[in-house]
Amino acid sequence: MFHAVVAIKQVPDTTNIRIDPETGNLVRAGVPAILNPYDAHALAAAVEWKGKLGGKVTVISMGPPSFKASIGESIELGADRGILISARQFSGADTLATSYVLAKAIEKINSEDPVDVIFFGKQAIDGDTAQVGPGVSVRLGIPVITYCSKINQIDCEEKTIVVQRNAEIKTELIRATLPVVLTCEKEIAKVPFASLPNLVKALRYEPEIWGYEEPLELDREKVGTKGSPTIVYKTATPEQPVAGELLDCEILGVAQVVKTVLAKDKFSVLIESAVGGK
Ligand SMILES: Cc1cc2nc3c(=O)[nH]c(=O)nc-3n(C[C@H](O)[C@H](O)[C@H](O)COP(=O)(O)OP(=O)(O)OC[C@H]3O[C@@H](n4cnc5c(N)ncnc54)[C@H](O)[C@@H]3O)c2cc1C
Repeated sequence: MFHAVVAIKQVPDTTNIRIDPETGNLVRAGVPAILNPYDAHALAAAVEWKGKLGGKVTVISMGPPSFKASIGESIELGADRGILISARQFSGADTLATSYVLAKAIEKINSEDPVDVIFFGKQAIDGDTAQVGPGVSVRLGIPVITYCSKINQIDCEEKTIVVQRNAEIKTELIRATLPVVLTCEKEIAKVPFASLPNLVKALRYEPEIWGYEEPLELDREKVGTKGSPTIVYKTATPEQPVAGELLDCEILGVAQVVKTVLAKDKFSVLIESAVGGK
């Protein structure tokens, strides 16, 4: 039977991320949150393959208690089990600490119920590093295929998978052995509308909460800020380019357009120096 684990992250529902200037951490308070869009597509793919092969889908997330909402949404979308790894000590984790805790959680899940495919989104839309999936695969010592756009085949008997991967100027068809980590593009699967039974199940569903002390045996030096050699030191939103002014020769006439252009500060400096140079 097929067993997929999907790592999901809750992210702010905005492209204008606010960062605490003191700590460099993301400000979550007062910002509407959503399931990271790439993770929703990765989850849809896992559920789709559960439908084809039979089996189950487990979602895991590391974050504050508010992340329960995204686990609930995952149950609506067809996940069977949801685990939230949550404790004050995990906060401030960079990708190294995040991938350490997620890998430990996956090891535990796998020891009870062997895992075939571990799905990640291509990237989280807040941190944007795209490092967590590959980081987990290295810690687990299993292959990773990034930027997956399609799963062509999963064979749980032969323990193989064939996926399509988007590279810059070509599409690759890759065959790998299971278990495998995939990081997924949105094309991997359409996010379906939740079915009524799943909606009802999600209403009553309480995710398992895994804490700092148990059930994972964690090296305390490797979690949270202690285990995070990087911090977000400073962030700023890049200035948006302002649209240029359009002068239409057919409407204004060429003479007027040239006059207007020459009257612009930057152009007059340019022209002057060009004339001066001759
Ligand atoms: C603006 C900003 C910049 C940051 N820059 C850095 C940086 O340069 N270096 C650094 O080490 N950290 C950075 N961080 C911290 C980073 O957000 C956290 O380490 C985070 O837990 C994982 O990184 P990411 O969001 O980039 O995830 P990505 O690696 O982009 O996420 C890929 C996938 O991993 C899974 N995933 C990610 N986080 C979780 C989670 N908590 N639980 C379950 N699944 C998860 C999801 O499937 C997701 O789609 C930054 C955070 C912010 C808000």
